Amino acid sequence: MQRYHVALLPGDGIGPEVMGEVERLCAFLRREGLVDLTLECAAVGGASLDATGKPISEETYALAKQADAVFLGAVGGPKWESVPYALRPEAALLGLRKRLDLFSNVRPALCYPALASASSLKPERVSGLDLVIVRELTGGVYFGEPKEIVTLESGVRRAVDSQVYTSVEIERIAKSAFALAEKRGKRVVSVEKRNVMVTGVLWHEVVQRVHANGNGHLELSSMLADNCAMQLVRDPLQFDVILTDNLFGDVLSDLAAMLTGSLGMLPSASLGAADAHGRFAALYEPVHGSAPDIAGMGKANPIASIASLSMALRYSFGAPALADALDRAIGRVLEHGARTADIASGDESADVISTREMGERIEKSLGEVLSS
Ligand code: NAD
Repeated sequence: MQRYHVALLPGDGIGPEVMGEVERLCAFLRREGLVDLTLECAAVGGASLDATGKPISEETYALAKQADAVFLGAVGGPKWESVPYALRPEAALLGLRKRLDLFSNVRPALCYPALASASSLKPERVSGLDLVIVRELTGGVYFGEPKEIVTLESGVRRAVDSQVYTSVEIERIAKSAFALAEKRGKRVVSVEKRNVMVTGVLWHEVVQRVHANGNGHLELSSMLADNCAMQLVRDPLQFDVILTDNLFGDVLSDLAAMLTGSLGMLPSASLGAADAHGRFAALYEPVHGSAPDIAGMGKANPIASIASLSMALRYSFGAPALADALDRAIGRVLEHGARTADIASGDESADVISTREMGERIEKSLGEVLSS
């Protein structure tokens, strides 16, 4: 049985509740002799701030660096809203992304048929939706210099953000998107605005080059970012992998998220570059935050976190068949009507269950899928 070392960082609010269900599934995988995930737990965010005075300690950074994968719950909450900016719980997340050089953010938008009616679009537009957005995470306008607000001699104030990309940054995220497409539907749509932005011109050139050098068997097309937003709402089923920069990825991935119904359903992965042995840093987390309004009530939907485990099985633990089985297990539980409160609204026949019951049912369903 393959053994992997996981840094488990539950964080704050509903983080520990949803990560508890991930632990349940990991224990099941180990018991069944499928994959041996050794979990080592540490505090991050507000929990770490309370314990150590820092949102993340050097020991936790070291743990994350050595691990084959990091599983994170969520950080933040009202208790820490007034702490100094550098100490806010969210600094732990940015620190992890930076220290592990997690430049590739992978966010699937998957609409389980049983939840198609929870989408803001018509069910037939989203039923069976299965797309992935690959967003460049460590460059672009959020980090480019200059970044400043200055007062001109005339007294007028001027703010500047700079969209900056090098060919190296574009090349590595493009490779990441093509590698992902290889394991999925083999189609990539590269999104920029080369009609008005020179970073878009370079982006387009480099993506074309990466495609020509060894990825020509995959389908590549280009789309302007505004058109992509429109197409995501008009006909989202046309997409497989969307490759885009930090800013457009931020906006488009939230848009795609809402096609699937609830924040509680959305997993994500942030990946680094592979070393000579093919190993890469990876952080898996739900897209949602710490949901302080429902923390401790047993109401949180653990599916985003459990689906993040499925992404880890696929990308970090070399077990795509097990990932498929876990995705199917989640789908079957939903088909049988089980719902946490966030995905139950408006459905009178829904069987509304707790965080823990949802985890238990997915575990049972996984057992059934694997033995069928
Ligand atoms: P949030 O995602 O925590 O919650 C938004 C809404 O969605 C809330 O009504 C919440 O109850 C609901 N929700 C979220 N996840 C759910 C789940 N799994 N099941 C059921 N319902 C769920 O966003 P917010 O309220 O804007 O932020 C709360 C805190 O979380 C803030 O401190 C924020 O900074 C932090 N945050 C952290 C992360 C992260 O750790 N990655 C991401 C976003 C926000």
